[in-house]
Amino acid sequence: MLHAMRYSKYFVPTLRDDPADAEVISHKLLLRAGFIRRVTSGVYDYLPIGLRVLRKIEAVVREEMDRSGAQELLMPTVQPTELWNKSGRLEKYGPELLRFNDRHNHESCLGPTHEEVICDLVSRELRSYKQLPMNLYQVQTKFRDEIRPRFGLMRGREFMMKDAYSFHADAECLSKEYQNMFDTYCRIFTRLGLKFRPVEADTGSIGGNNSHEFHVLAESGEDLIAHCSSCEYAANVEKAVSSRSMPQSEPGELTLVDTPNATSAEEVSAFLNCDIAQLVKTLVYRAVGGENDGEIVAACLRGDDQLQEIKLAHAIGADSVELASDAEVISIGGITGFVGPAGLSARVIIDDSLKAASGLVAGANKLDTHMTGLDVARDLGDVVFTDLRETRAGDSCGKCGAAMELSRGIEVGHVFELGTRYAEPMEVLFQDQQGKRAVATMGCYGIGVSRLMAAVVEQCNDDSGICWPANLAPFQVSLITMGKSEAVIEASEQVYSQLIESGVEVLWDDRKESPGVKFKDAELIGMPVQVVVADRSLKEGLAEMGVRGGSRQSMPIGEVAAAAI
Ligand code: ATP
Ligand code: MG
Ligand code: MG
Ligand code: MG
Repeated sequence: MLHAMRYSKYFVPTLRDDPADAEVISHKLLLRAGFIRRVTSGVYDYLPIGLRVLRKIEAVVREEMDRSGAQELLMPTVQPTELWNKSGRLEKYGPELLRFNDRHNHESCLGPTHEEVICDLVSRELRSYKQLPMNLYQVQTKFRDEIRPRFGLMRGREFMMKDAYSFHADAECLSKEYQNMFDTYCRIFTRLGLKFRPVEADTGSIGGNNSHEFHVLAESGEDLIAHCSSCEYAANVEKAVSSRSMPQSEPGELTLVDTPNATSAEEVSAFLNCDIAQLVKTLVYRAVGGENDGEIVAACLRGDDQLQEIKLAHAIGADSVELASDAEVISIGGITGFVGPAGLSARVIIDDSLKAASGLVAGANKLDTHMTGLDVARDLGDVVFTDLRETRAGDSCGKCGAAMELSRGIEVGHVFELGTRYAEPMEVLFQDQQGKRAVATMGCYGIGVSRLMAAVVEQCNDDSGICWPANLAPFQVSLITMGKSEAVIEASEQVYSQLIESGVEVLWDDRKESPGVKFKDAELIGMPVQVVVADRSLKEGLAEMGVRGGSRQSMPIGEVAAAAI
């Protein structure tokens, strides 16, 4: 990678203001600082400065993967859908798989993941157990036709992934490699300077024993993760809740479910691991408290009773509902609930054949105040309250019985024991030690390389811009020339050459811009060290050096390069 650049010749289009369509900080800053540009929904250009960071993230990932014993290869982006037919997930994968026909009417897809292609490759080459185990990885473009691409690099349609696939003769060997990958991921995310947490994840429809997701902790994260600070048990909420049964209300009884942090119906239902229709078995009361949680997302639906009944019925997938006359239907966080006047209760009766129980009502007048589900429960007295943050002893949501904390996370990595789910239909076979044909056992391990770029920015920013960790910054040093005299240009040139000779990556702002503009851009882009050559201090043979956002020290021009290493 080139060590140095002159800003005047470099393509870094920065923006003064936040782009209107960017919601999260990483999206705003990466656009403003000239790292990325949008091509179309969920598809981005990496501009030169953005590519530098991406390559540095990739380099850390590659170094640690190589160190772990995995071998890099490169598979194609375009995959024949025949392979997906063979594995049995062509239809199951759904509309995220972008399919198209070529001129010979052969159907292909853009690879969202590569289990099929790698199995196809290995199945043709694998003969004997002596070739196992092996772990093959690539760093490559993936395409998933996400229904809601958003937050810039966080959820793209086209994105960079590191994906690895390991092959083993038996489950024990797979477990060892799984642990090896788990440790490798911890090293990678630590080297990237991230606050992260590995959490247990559901193995879902694939089955298998073990799966962990790695989450970067950030308010903007799309996932909810549960964590116990006493026993360190951590899981994504789907996993944390999946082994708990959904709280059931008996007719005439209300179960309040506190779903802190959830701001949409999808999140609440993900949290409860049930669909929206099931949810209404239980009145969902979104905890209102804390700064970001203050607003009730959806407004109360008032007015024509009949209309509300129809809406409610629609929301829960019932044909009709019968509301007590003093009840109102409200929507909280996108979830339809039922509210009666304070102190009174209203019963909503839903057709039993739909397996929905009846629910009761929380005090309507409480909804605009700050209170938690627990407060409501206390208020109502005769209510069964289930706080999903509480874990009881022996509850498979936690190990020790202490309360669980919920936080938001960005999924940046995922490791999975696949077992024979793909190897069997794809016929990844080998001769075992007894000379018998056996199916290989597999693991797969993904890292969202481009999502990581956004995740780092989510954690490392301030009011002025991005604060890159030194090993990921596009350049280590931002060299700023203040003044137009020949002497100051010459001295800057000298510092620039010395930095290059010392192997320091430097972006020299040699533009004819005001110092204000130069400092703003330097802080926005986020180089960790600033070196300033200015007319005033140059008279004494000095330059200034300091870390971004901190104070600067004067030092002789000739000593800058040594100090910057
Ligand atoms: P998500 O739950 O965020 O949709 P996923 O579970 O579908 O992710 P995996 O199949 O586990 O993703 O892929 C491995 C990694 O690829 C993820 O952990 C994530 O870091 C990254 N990734 C997945 N989808 C995207 C995307 N749309 N944009 C950027 N990175 C992604
Ligand atoms: Mg996904
Ligand atoms: Mg996921
Ligand atoms: Mg995943």
